[in-house]
Amino acid sequence: MIQVKGIRDLREILKAARTTATRIGLVPTMGCLHAGHLSLIAAARRRSDFVVVSIFVNPMQFGPGEDYDRYPRTPAEDISVCRNAGVDLLFNPEPTGLYASDHSASVEETVLSRGLCGKHRPGHFRGVTTIVAKLFNLVAPDIAVFGQKDAQQLAVVRRMVRDLNFPVRIIGAPTVREHDGLALSSRNKLLDPESRRNAPLIHQSLKEAAGKYRRGQRDPKLLCREIISRIEEQSSLRVEYAAAVDNDTLDPVCRLRANVRLMLAVRAGAVRLIDNELLA
Ligand code: AMP
Repeated sequence: MIQVKGIRDLREILKAARTTATRIGLVPTMGCLHAGHLSLIAAARRRSDFVVVSIFVNPMQFGPGEDYDRYPRTPAEDISVCRNAGVDLLFNPEPTGLYASDHSASVEETVLSRGLCGKHRPGHFRGVTTIVAKLFNLVAPDIAVFGQKDAQQLAVVRRMVRDLNFPVRIIGAPTVREHDGLALSSRNKLLDPESRRNAPLIHQSLKEAAGKYRRGQRDPKLLCREIISRIEEQSSLRVEYAAAVDNDTLDPVCRLRANVRLMLAVRAGAVRLIDNELLA
């Protein structure tokens, strides 16, 4: 595995790689790698012959007072995880390495980014689309893999790619979970023991809601209210939002149907966790 931190080195290695590789795959991450990231790397591996993983805790997607400083970082472990996973090129720039100190250009998606996490984290998706656009410009991948756990992020990135004509195919990969259903997340490490015990309620409440839909429930407001009370009555977790949205437009729906995604954001003290479930 080749490891590079600088943009010039990255471009040189990729130029050489392109003489033999027919398809380059990119997996953008913020590190503290877990089995969810590994599934994305495996998905990239299946569809490309040169796999690039980026590890960069992107300051631009964290708001003031959010957990940029506390965000878990495990750089040494991440390198061996990538090596064992058969990654060809690891790009892990320095924290300040990707933005000029006076950077003033950004990429913004203005519709899908507005609600849900975008409403609670103003500027977050502008940070995401800017770093993803930068990585696409730097790596010029043929495919890029993103997790469905971050369903709004995936939809926003797809829209950016469509609207700005990036020549890259976006692959959405299924959510990888702990045995108790909790979606793997780098932030799970930050949970205190009680919150960790309660955190499976997030997925449980979504699965129960999907079951009610299958048995005929069609009222999104009722279903979301039930998700909230299931979580809040049985734990100290607090629901930031529970919403039923169209899977493509992310618009709230008046009636539940197939291709609606239940979206959930929960606070466990200072830790924010998200999850979602697609109704089929
Ligand atoms: P992060 O490092 O948290 O920014 O995530 C990097 C990529 O991994 C994103 O595309 C996430 O959606 C994806 N990801 C994070 N957690 C999971 C998971 N549990 N299962 C599948 N993909 C995930």
